Amino acid sequence: MSHSYSDTQLLIDGQWQDAASGRKIPVRNPASGEVIGHVAHADVADLDRALAAAQRGFETWRKVSAHERGAAMRRAAALLKDRADEIAALLTQEQGKPLAEAKGEILAGVGIIEWFADEALRVYGRIVPSRRPEVQQLVIKEPVGPVAAFTPWNFPVNQIVRKIGAALATGCSFLCKAPEETPAAPAALFKCFVDAGVPAGVVGLVFGDPAQISSYLIAHPVIRKVTFTGSTPVGKQLAALAGQHMKRSTMELGGHAPVIVAEDADVALAVKAAGASKFRNAGQVCISPTRFLVHNSVREEFTRAMVAHAEGLKVGDGLVQGTQMGPLANPRRVTALSHLIEDAQKQGAKLLTGGASLGGAGNFFAPTVLGDVPLSAEIFNQEPFGPVAAIRGFDDLGEAIAEANRLSYGLAAYAFTRSIKTAHQLAQQVETGMLWINQPAVASAEMPFGGVKDSGYGSEGGPEALEAYLVAKAVSIAAV
Ligand code: NAD
Repeated sequence: MSHSYSDTQLLIDGQWQDAASGRKIPVRNPASGEVIGHVAHADVADLDRALAAAQRGFETWRKVSAHERGAAMRRAAALLKDRADEIAALLTQEQGKPLAEAKGEILAGVGIIEWFADEALRVYGRIVPSRRPEVQQLVIKEPVGPVAAFTPWNFPVNQIVRKIGAALATGCSFLCKAPEETPAAPAALFKCFVDAGVPAGVVGLVFGDPAQISSYLIAHPVIRKVTFTGSTPVGKQLAALAGQHMKRSTMELGGHAPVIVAEDADVALAVKAAGASKFRNAGQVCISPTRFLVHNSVREEFTRAMVAHAEGLKVGDGLVQGTQMGPLANPRRVTALSHLIEDAQKQGAKLLTGGASLGGAGNFFAPTVLGDVPLSAEIFNQEPFGPVAAIRGFDDLGEAIAEANRLSYGLAAYAFTRSIKTAHQLAQQVETGMLWINQPAVASAEMPFGGVKDSGYGSEGGPEALEAYLVAKAVSIAAV
């Protein structure tokens, strides 16, 4: 089946347009390496127009009632749902994930936008009892202002949805630099908001040189809030810049999720659930299970089953029906993974399956399982962001918890146990933003989504997600 793919323009002040300079960046299909289109490359002149529009958009949008804002968001969500098949095909061509996963991402996005549309109605202030009878004290929640968002290529639609949902629900305007590698699906998402009648300037979309755009937007006085999803090193740079310019910020950064499989775990469930999470999106997920810490009494059984799971996956072009794992999104990942696997083997880890690029056109990499991985191996310390399950054994739960907490990351964690006591202990002692016990990752709109330690700060789910886009104004009125 042939799928169309078109060039992507910038969205500035409600108009789709090329960059003023006419510059463009090629977009490649990671399954073939071929250039499939181009995306406009914004320069400062384009950013200035986008910023002025975002300021006007904010003045407009903050005055729109929460009911009307929510209704516009619901219309956008309905359009996204209607267009899910078409947008999924764009997403798979530019990012590589299987069509069913791409469609799942988009439909999850629909649900997230709807949830935020409902939450728009629940941005409550407070009336606080005062110390004097003639005084009334109010806490009013106001939108923080125009937002600059920076989103990555692993979930081109959903990384935006979590940010745009909270921004629009609270009355902020939203200017996004989406990923140059995967621009068409984000543009199709923005088109849903434009077609839903969101006024000009309320949403804007640019692409270009990430470092140039982020340094310009974060420092610019129009921008009041920064939100970034990506790697920890880049997040630290952007957070520092935001601090320098006194901008609110949310940082959703890298992770290195431990998976603790206790001696009383349902091993088949652990393999099914953690295996599904591990190889989803070819492991290019910030909450992907990474360090498998398996009690030595069940380690062999778990390892055998995980190898069988990995070997059973059908790897191929995401557009082909039946594909369960697509290519890596870019050649950088193939190089990085090959290096991590080689390093682990040199340090004594056993390569149990996979371990190499599948060769040919495209960035295909075999689902990989490593056993007996030493703590010093780079893969046990750096985020692999790829389809590798790295396993090591433990004897004592305290030892596994200490290992889970050893790294500076603290985004997601998983555990498998039949013991309620162990579950409570893990909930209390694992340093993580999110913990899933006896299940794969389920990132729902209503639960907080974010990390601790070097994995960042702020949340992109639950009521906390809206708080990040609000400022509290204390008003005290004396009746005279
Ligand atoms: P990278 O660090 O170069 O880029 C990560 C993302 O940040 C990309 O979308 C990129 O466009 C953006 N970026 C880079 N420099 C920027 C800057 N100065 N200003 C604004 N945005 C900037 O890494 P990469 O090779 O694209 O991806 C690999 C690593 O990125 C992974 O190991 C993973 O840690 C991280 N990553 C994390 C997530 C996530 O969901 N948290 C998503 C994608 C990538």
